[in-house]
Amino acid sequence: MEPIITWLREVPLWLAALAFLGKNVALFLLALAAGEGLVRHFSHRRITPEPPPLERHEVVLAATCVVLNSVVTFAGLLLWRAEWIRFRLDTGPRVLVDFVVLVLMMDAAMYVMHRVAHAPFLYTRLHAPHHRYVHARPLTLFVLSPLEVLGFGALWLGVCVAYESSWLGMLLYLAFNTLWGVLGHLGVEPFPEGWVRWPVLGRIATTTFHARHHLESDSNFGFYTLLWDRLFGTLALPYFSRQSTQPTPEPRV
Ligand SMILES: [Zn+2]
Ligand SMILES: [Zn+2]
Repeated sequence: MEPIITWLREVPLWLAALAFLGKNVALFLLALAAGEGLVRHFSHRRITPEPPPLERHEVVLAATCVVLNSVVTFAGLLLWRAEWIRFRLDTGPRVLVDFVVLVLMMDAAMYVMHRVAHAPFLYTRLHAPHHRYVHARPLTLFVLSPLEVLGFGALWLGVCVAYESSWLGMLLYLAFNTLWGVLGHLGVEPFPEGWVRWPVLGRIATTTFHARHHLESDSNFGFYTLLWDRLFGTLALPYFSRQSTQPTPEPRV
């Protein structure tokens, strides 16, 4: 890790910006490849109709999202150099605590932000572009309005400022975030049958959970867990009695 830290401290900003853009493009391609692989592998467990052909608008928003994610990474570098963001170097069991803390902090904050984004005065400007794609595909994870991308980025940087994690805990969280984002937009259900009834694990969001949010946008606002939807009564029912592979209902218009 030492050589990477030295590089981050000394690299010219223009080169850091280019490297972050390259990293985000690579991550985007990897996420799409993994997502499409899962869609093919679990094609027998489709939960939403096949998405319509790709639109130009969709591709432009996804490309903008990748560029803006790089801007957020760049802002993170500046905050780290200014010592607003700090991270620890240990790689022991405390890393797992960091991971759980980051997931829970982001899950709570993103639930609140997601509900606010559904308020009528913000929805059209901020969140509607994502909901335009009712029948999601892996690319839909990146189809967000630019303001929304920056909002999520600011939230993540705020959590990094508030909580001094290990670098490995942050890395694990970011990998988990991308994975769960891809899983949420597959349109097929890779989680095992009956997952929703498993203790503890059943409280983790499945693909069906987020697919239902795309269809009925007044429920299932959580990202990683069902905790906040259960607490605030926004969980689409009957969630626990549903088989995870049951087809989701038609969109409400
Ligand atoms: Zn979505
Ligand atoms: Zn939404």
